[in-house]
Amino acid sequence: MKMSCRLRGHKEWNVRASTLARNTYNPIRDVIETLQIKPNPKKSYIPLSVGDPTAFGNLQPSENIIDAICDIAKQNDSRNYAPTIGHREARQAVAEYSAHQGMVSADDVILCSGCSHAIDITLSVIADAGQNVLIPRPGYLIHKTLGEGLGIVIKYYDLLPDQNWQVDLESLESQIDENTAAIVVNNPSNPCGSVYTREHLKDIVDVASRNRVPIIADEIYEHFVFSDHEFTAISSVSKDVPVLTCSGVTKRFLVPGWRLGWVIIHDRQNIFNKEIRSGLMSMATRILGPNTLMQKALPRILKETPQSFYDDTIRFIESQAKLAYQELKKTPGLRPIMPQGSMYMMIEIKTSLFPKFDNELQFISKMCNEQSVLCIPGKCFNYPNYMRIVLTVPEEILREACVRITQFCEDHMLKKLDNDVVSIVQGEPTRAASKKNFQKNIA
Ligand SMILES: *Cc1c(COP(=O)(O)O)cnc(C)c1O
Repeated sequence: MKMSCRLRGHKEWNVRASTLARNTYNPIRDVIETLQIKPNPKKSYIPLSVGDPTAFGNLQPSENIIDAICDIAKQNDSRNYAPTIGHREARQAVAEYSAHQGMVSADDVILCSGCSHAIDITLSVIADAGQNVLIPRPGYLIHKTLGEGLGIVIKYYDLLPDQNWQVDLESLESQIDENTAAIVVNNPSNPCGSVYTREHLKDIVDVASRNRVPIIADEIYEHFVFSDHEFTAISSVSKDVPVLTCSGVTKRFLVPGWRLGWVIIHDRQNIFNKEIRSGLMSMATRILGPNTLMQKALPRILKETPQSFYDDTIRFIESQAKLAYQELKKTPGLRPIMPQGSMYMMIEIKTSLFPKFDNELQFISKMCNEQSVLCIPGKCFNYPNYMRIVLTVPEEILREACVRITQFCEDHMLKKLDNDVVSIVQGEPTRAASKKNFQKNIA
């Protein structure tokens, strides 16, 4: 029997993904897929691409945190819902753990499902579609992925490879306009491994202060710094600029899958008024709070983890950084930049010495197909002609990877130098050539 009532819906099926979904794009996955890599089956595969410190099983979390989770899983009150911003005891523990950032109380802390969720709610509260947010180049593109999904315009300020990736302050200031809603500062940095001094952070804050732009601090690598370097929270050097600091347990405690992060609101001059604070609280209600098992364990995780655990982890990564730097410094055609913290190193590929390859993507896929070593192309960080390696892999594997990377460079570097090429290869013109490539690739 035919329905005779008037059709209220559509005549045809036409189910489409939302603009938000279509605008959400994670470059790492996409770029790696387009590389079409086929690791050489004759050589063990070494993914120096995986930014997960647990991937190789050599770095284990501290026992106390596993004990805390096991104990708490047995308690009845670890299973119920918490307030959407998190249990007060857990927020209080984060406030105490974060005292180095400046005065923090439990009321300034919102618990999230990992640091990326913290960045997500922060960006969505601070900017409307059409406003812009400045992020570093090179930079970890979660900020871009999240921002562009929301219709926020992402603009870039440059980091300076020859100054340990410090912020080019002129570039930063020149990108600010009346639609700028925030500046993202990622310190210590993924992918650069840079750690900024207090003075440099003050300079960044001065730019923000002059232009009345709040800061979003991605400090997921807080305290993850090598000897002779000191971690300073950017909020601790700000007198007026409000700072939303995003962090979590992911990297420092070696538990990325446990998904617990937070946003801390620093607003000494009450510039945010109540609006941003209550906006963050509203955004926190979109999921019904992060995992309560972790929240209940958090005070023990943050307070009882022995200093020796942190020291051992960072000492290991530092020695890996030194190893990779020493080995790759000698490799023809590469220029590693020694990191000062975090878990990564950026390496410049002098592409003019590898004319076979049009860009670093081709270099990287060929290297994987021949040597079974995969690195992340600079393109994923908006920075062509570089690649990023992770330093958390076991020592023997890192050593082997360096040998193979060197072998690959020797196999493919320009060998026979006719007179014209010599002039390109030696000295400055190399940089000019790679700069041109850089601009070509960025466009
Ligand atoms: C790993 C990482 C994150 C994401 O952390 P989660 O807690 O896993 O969401 C955010 N920012 C940077 C710079 C990272 O390297």
